[in-house]
Amino acid sequence: MRADRPVPAEHTPSKASWLCRDEFDRERMLDMEERVRPYRQGTLLILAIALVGLAPSLGWWPLLFLIPAGLFFGLADGLMPKVARPENVMFAAWVGSELTIAGAVSLEGGPRVVALSWLAIPVMTLSSRFGVRGVVAGVAIACALMLAVAFGFDASAVVSSPELVVAPLAVVLSVALLSTPLMRSDIQHRSDAVIDPLTGMLNRKALSARVHELGQQSEITGEPVGVIVADLDHFKNVNDTRGHTVGDVVLREVAYLLRKHLRAFDLAYRLGGEEFLILVPGSDLESTADLAHRLREGVCAEELTGGVRVTMSIGVAASAHHERFHYTEVFAEADAALYRAKRAGRNRVCLAGGGELPAAA
Ligand code: GH3
Ligand code: MG
Ligand code: MG
Repeated sequence: MRADRPVPAEHTPSKASWLCRDEFDRERMLDMEERVRPYRQGTLLILAIALVGLAPSLGWWPLLFLIPAGLFFGLADGLMPKVARPENVMFAAWVGSELTIAGAVSLEGGPRVVALSWLAIPVMTLSSRFGVRGVVAGVAIACALMLAVAFGFDASAVVSSPELVVAPLAVVLSVALLSTPLMRSDIQHRSDAVIDPLTGMLNRKALSARVHELGQQSEITGEPVGVIVADLDHFKNVNDTRGHTVGDVVLREVAYLLRKHLRAFDLAYRLGGEEFLILVPGSDLESTADLAHRLREGVCAEELTGGVRVTMSIGVAASAHHERFHYTEVFAEADAALYRAKRAGRNRVCLAGGGELPAAA
């Protein structure tokens, strides 16, 4: 299940594909795939029962077509955890299932076979898996296959009875269109649940899913994971002297600055209030501390809204090489280091184990 697949390491543009614009799309597809799987198997069962019922008129052999359809998805389930772009595997399996249906219908006699409309069944799953581009591509493939089967195998039947192809085409298009608001609503709810509305950063809910995955990934790769906990210094003063609204804008600007200095969007989280957390997969204590140093300098160098300047105290910790990343332990070390940074005078980076980077002037 979820736990078996590799962790999408970064939300970098290089990981974008035509089916998934980013890691968020990919996460959604993989999560939905697990939800769709039992229903997909149920659908194959329904089709098998229907074909058994039709066996007296069609013969038994159409049942054989269910085997490749099931196999494509079975193969995809096995392959997806192992590849960087699982969406391509799933889309290939999806096309395979359409080809299988098209093959079965054409061997049965082309457009006269009512099962031509079965090409609409996989279309139903497109929007649960992919975004608009995937849905459009899938619908185009389903329609092209329908026309190819209809005209390729019995064009004269289609010409004399256009409803043979017009009706199933209308089913495909309607199914695709009606499932679009479900997709939109699902995407909206998922992003609302994990994104902090003030800063646009990921929130604690997103963090708990990610640290679980990072723990598993570290077990496989043996790579350390760095954790940075940052807290704005005397932020209450900003609210007290400039008002809460300016405080909000400052928080948004700090979030922007942090993200600007990071490689990936999905590594920075707002823990709450004026406290931020950054996960750095593959980074040991030293390189995480370097990054923390750059973040702190980046934030305090900038003049923010209304000429406000803020400083930031940071605690840094990292898991060891060849050891599993235990988030709660590493976070506790980073948090203790942050506490030391505050006590030592703020505007500095403290490291787990007692080290400290020089405070800014
Ligand atoms: P320290 O250097 O010890 O961290 O001092 P501090 O003033 O930053 O810390 P403290 O915990 O005393 O106060 C945090 C302040 O952050 C209090 C609260 O009003 C403010 N804050 C928390 N969340 C928000 C928010 O969403 N918007 C605004 N404007 N302020 C917030
Ligand atoms: Mg603070
Ligand atoms: Mg705080």
